[in-house]
Amino acid sequence: MSLQAPDVLDVLVIGAGPAGSAAARCLAQAGLSVHMVDAQPIGRDKVCGDGLIPDAHQALARLGVLDAVMAKAQRAQAVACIGPSGGRIDVPGTLAVLPRRQLDEVLLRAALAAGAQFEQARFEAPLEDAAGRVQGARLRRGDEVVEVQARWTLLATGAVPKALQAAGMCTRQTPSGVALRGYIRAPALVGRIKALEVVWNRAVRPGYGWIFPAPDGCFNIGVGVTDSHDSVDGKGRKKDANLRAIFDAFVAAYPPAQQLVKEGAWVSELKGAPLRCSLAGARHARPGLMVVGEAAGSTYSFTGEGIGKAMQTALLAADAILAHRNDDAAARAAYEAGLAALAPKYRLYERANRINAFPWLADLVIWRAKKSPRLLRRMSGVQEETSNPGNLVSLKGLTRLFLE
Ligand SMILES: Cc1cc2nc3c(=O)[nH]c(=O)nc-3n(C[C@H](O)[C@H](O)[C@H](O)COP(=O)(O)OP(=O)(O)OC[C@H]3O[C@@H](n4cnc5c(N)ncnc54)[C@H](O)[C@@H]3O)c2cc1C
Repeated sequence: MSLQAPDVLDVLVIGAGPAGSAAARCLAQAGLSVHMVDAQPIGRDKVCGDGLIPDAHQALARLGVLDAVMAKAQRAQAVACIGPSGGRIDVPGTLAVLPRRQLDEVLLRAALAAGAQFEQARFEAPLEDAAGRVQGARLRRGDEVVEVQARWTLLATGAVPKALQAAGMCTRQTPSGVALRGYIRAPALVGRIKALEVVWNRAVRPGYGWIFPAPDGCFNIGVGVTDSHDSVDGKGRKKDANLRAIFDAFVAAYPPAQQLVKEGAWVSELKGAPLRCSLAGARHARPGLMVVGEAAGSTYSFTGEGIGKAMQTALLAADAILAHRNDDAAARAAYEAGLAALAPKYRLYERANRINAFPWLADLVIWRAKKSPRLLRRMSGVQEETSNPGNLVSLKGLTRLFLE
């Protein structure tokens, strides 16, 4: 190997997005030898809405990089939910927007500062011992193929399933959703579009559109379509969605998007990418290996938010390894238990995604939240993750809408 790595590393991290860098920083800080690889170089871009919701702030704070991120980010005070009939409710929260090229570099450099090493290389396959336990990976570095031995391998390879398949961890090849975004510079609109605007409109059904105010007078604008958990058997409805047409429909139907496109200047092309949601579509662990972040399906359905949960799931894996250094089975069980504890949150977003099929219901929730400070506080609490999602989006929960 070109880098000074021990013969057998403690941890090999594949993928240097938020998940990989979070795990690498945490494990390196604890004194483990950590080697990170990514198919792309440091400073790569990632197609994303760039919105940092409260779970991302919490993970960034734990990693000790929140101040560095917020020094570059555009802050926001609320997520504006705009319903099919145009009703709007601003759910207050701890929010920000930072283009992924910058966010991911801050995180990766923080992992390096903690002692992790990085090289550009592509994961090809796991190395296995006679019993089938993963012992590292075969990597492609340019024309060269190298074998790297490690006690643990973390797969943090995001929503593209190729690495999952090669590791024998993929249970569903198709993504749970697809989304597309571009950047528009429109200094005149700064201060006028202040919230993270998420729009559920008939024109983009069963998906959503968004406009997020980014730093430097720019706006991240895009559309996404995620399926409900019920369709994760590979028969998902919208895998072949024409996102470009949905984007055009969003711009035509939502006046602020129209204004942004008309008055602003495009500073990037529109680019699409897959999403893997609801902790589905992959096995999460096998002896010697854990799958973290969006590779494990850590993105929320309904809104497509996943940066925070990518880091959180990676930190769960790191904590499990640190708590059970010499017990593979116990570490895997601890990680699986940590993921299971997140399940109610994912279920809430799944249910909300289903509601999206009934525009009148989305309108009703927004109408009711406008009238009920208590309901708005609950929505904000769920967003901040300070209150339990409970049955906010269920028949019982909807009935309660009229009592709150
Ligand atoms: C259009 C769009 C908008 C979104 N908007 C938001 C938003 O506003 N807020 C939010 O929170 N989330 C959003 N998301 C979701 C968010 O982008 C993901 O949840 C997040 O990137 C997951 O992080 P990760 O570290 O798991 O994976 P990634 O960030 O995808 O990182 C995976 C890394 O693995 C590397 N890799 C892959 N295969 C290999 C291999 N074989 N060998 C080596 N390296 C490999 C890749 O190069 C990449 O760097 C959006 C997604 C899309 C598509």
